[in-house]
Amino acid sequence: MNESWGFDTRAIHAGQPPDPTTGAVVVPISLSTTFAQDAVGVTRGGYEYARSANPTRTALEECVAALEGASYGMAFSSGLAGEDAILRLLRPGDHLLLGDDAYGGTFRLIARVHADWGIDYTAVDLTDLDAVRAAWRPETRMVWAETPTNPLLTVVDIAAVAAVAHDHDALCVVDNTFATPYLQTPLAFGADIVVHSSTKYLGGHSDVVGGFVATSDADLADSIAFVQNAAGGVPGAFDAYLTLRGVKTLGVRMDRHCSNAEAVVAVLEASDSVEQVFHPGLAHHPGHDVATRQMSGFGGMVSFIVKGGDPAARKVAEATELFTLAESLGAVESLIEVPAVMTHASAANSPLEVDPGLVRLSVGIESTDDLVADIDRAITAIS
Ligand code: PLP
Repeated sequence: MNESWGFDTRAIHAGQPPDPTTGAVVVPISLSTTFAQDAVGVTRGGYEYARSANPTRTALEECVAALEGASYGMAFSSGLAGEDAILRLLRPGDHLLLGDDAYGGTFRLIARVHADWGIDYTAVDLTDLDAVRAAWRPETRMVWAETPTNPLLTVVDIAAVAAVAHDHDALCVVDNTFATPYLQTPLAFGADIVVHSSTKYLGGHSDVVGGFVATSDADLADSIAFVQNAAGGVPGAFDAYLTLRGVKTLGVRMDRHCSNAEAVVAVLEASDSVEQVFHPGLAHHPGHDVATRQMSGFGGMVSFIVKGGDPAARKVAEATELFTLAESLGAVESLIEVPAVMTHASAANSPLEVDPGLVRLSVGIESTDDLVADIDRAITAIS
């Protein structure tokens, strides 16, 4: 790869030269589970068994690592499989600080899987550095930040949190699923590890579940790659191909996600049925200044609290036509959901529990006017 390539050039070409045998311009879906050796232990290009390495997966790993400005990238079968591999860097007795607003599944993985193996955790407001320092313990080894967060779009100052972590010889992990490397590159702000649910914007078409971990630290990459192979949570070749295909258009999709989200936010802000709108692009959003500093756009995710609580939130979510009532996010089609009873149900009765009147939108790339009209109709229906 040419280091001077811009984002979209890297998305289309990094790790994806024309196939040396046939000249195919698209990376082939390499289905072989095993690879011929020229002599015992002598492989062609390092491939021996497809769990350990697969050429389609390698192309994806090189490409997304290049987008994150990372030296190493590892693809996983899901975002949570990638998160699990990172959490295995911790040892029994270690403590982890986690944002108090995060994807419910991340919380469940930490609180109900890793906690059982002796990893302790504290959920803390990562936008409050005094609270972060107060929650620090001698055995704290990792800070896990999502930014912007799911579902409240809270913006964490990556450089500030990474600095606190490094003061204590701890690691800073950033979940970059919502922003994507097109809008934000956490490693450039001091994060040690970036993780993605590539099921979302990287894949971008609601047709493949996947995860990605990137780092520029060789030791961390070795440890995570060891778990990737030893535990085996890898994507199949077709999944790697679909994700790579999605990544090629990440930049143009993100531009449209951002502009459509802005248009939808304007409608929500003007509505009497809406109590509060969450979007980092809003000047009154508490994280707006940090977002302006560390992001090149504000993303396609929007959340809002409707007046009338849970029944009103359900009514809005069931009243849209183009915004499909469904979990997940980050794809070309617009989605709507009620986090308290859908994506974040696993965080009920925890510090990460969300307001029952909260509605989350993943604003897609359909025609702007159609999306605006759809959301306007749905919120008017509850007034
Ligand atoms: N991180 C964030 C911010 C998410 O929204 C999700 C899933 O919704 C995950 C991680 C987990 O990813 P996956 O569903 O691909 O396992």
